[in-house]
Amino acid sequence: PLPVLAVVGRPNVGKSTLVNRILGRREAVVEDRPGVTRDRVTYEAEWAGRRFKVVDTGGWELDVLGMEASVAAQAEFAVEAADAVVFVVDAQVGATDTDEAVVRMLRKAGKPVVLCANKVDGPTGEADAAYLWGLGLGEPHPVSALHGRGTGDLLDVALDAL
Ligand code: GDP
Ligand code: MG
Repeated sequence: PLPVLAVVGRPNVGKSTLVNRILGRREAVVEDRPGVTRDRVTYEAEWAGRRFKVVDTGGWELDVLGMEASVAAQAEFAVEAADAVVFVVDAQVGATDTDEAVVRMLRKAGKPVVLCANKVDGPTGEADAAYLWGLGLGEPHPVSALHGRGTGDLLDVALDAL
């Protein structure tokens, strides 16, 4: 079976945009409809001659749990089935309480984690990324999923972790 890379993080940090970059094509990523529960979406991908599966998470929210617990819970399901994890944070916003909740879950899970500091669209954003060292997950990899900046380097590191 192909190794599995899960892409997790709170809503709007750019997970689906990153997954599209990894796939090198535009997939129809279905928007969440209120009240509709969706599962994670798995795609087959290839990088540097290696095939793997990439799992895009999100699209559903467990309202009863509230945002923090809900995001952590859905990330947890994906992480359980993964060999390595790309944890995406919005570097322009910085680490939020929800991000911290996901970090606690990732620590417990014990899987290899690559920290993606997304929305670093240009050199001025590098400083935003550096703040994310504070999450305690090691080096934040600056990426612009939107423009493709840094995504190759991120994938190199992620595949090393697989
Ligand atoms: P998800 O909810 O984590 O899957 O996030 P999406 O991939 O749907 O992206 C949420 C929003 O952030 C969209 O408007 C994207 O265009 C935007 N976005 C994603 N990546 C980047 C990036 O690298 N830079 C900027 N400026 N915006 C981004
Ligand atoms: Mg998404």
